Amino acid sequence: MIAHCKKELPYEACGLLSGKNGVAETIWKMKNVERSPVSFAMDTTQLQQTLKQIQQNKEALTGIYHSHPTGIAYPSSRDIEYAHYPEAAYIIISLANQKPVVKGFRIINRKVIPLMIQLLHD
Ligand SMILES: [Zn+2]
Repeated sequence: MIAHCKKELPYEACGLLSGKNGVAETIWKMKNVERSPVSFAMDTTQLQQTLKQIQQNKEALTGIYHSHPTGIAYPSSRDIEYAHYPEAAYIIISLANQKPVVKGFRIINRKVIPLMIQLLHD
């Protein structure tokens, strides 16, 4: 996940995590169609296909990650506005400092709730 985010610099990277019982097992790298250093948008077709595959794998969407190449690990107002998956953890990876900072949130009705997350793999 962090490697993917670093690879996409200077642009924001984005992707999905899926798994069972709140444990993310699978990482799905997604295309940031905006190719922007301050925002991201997933391709709708790629998103639908990936969600279908997750279902076929009998997994659930557990997380949606994206990077902030120069910003802090907290959802931007735009992130909050476009957060349509209340069941998923929104993972934000800040690459503003040498050591990446990874934080998770639940975003429900524009409310941001910090989550305890544990990284088992980078
Ligand atoms: Zn963001």
